[in-house]
Amino acid sequence: MDALMLDGNAVAGLLQEAFAVEMTTAVGTCASFGAAGPVGAVHVYRGAGTVLRCPHCDNTLAKIVKNDSPESPEPLVA
Ligand SMILES: [Zn+2]
Repeated sequence: MDALMLDGNAVAGLLQEAFAVEMTTAVGTCASFGAAGPVGAVHVYRGAGTVLRCPHCDNTLAKIVKNDSPESPEPLVA
């Protein structure tokens, strides 16, 4: 883990806002590596948005952008 990287637990609030449920204990499977693990253990990088990466192969699992517009305040997940 480098200084700019967090784990999925660090963005628990953002994930709950995007998915409307507690996500850090949800288990996901990497489409590239095939490894399964809790979302709380993924690697998180923050910049203009939030990028979740597989802790095993660094594959991008999700990109989340938060819109500050009052008309659509929900985060966009891609
Ligand atoms: Zn992977």
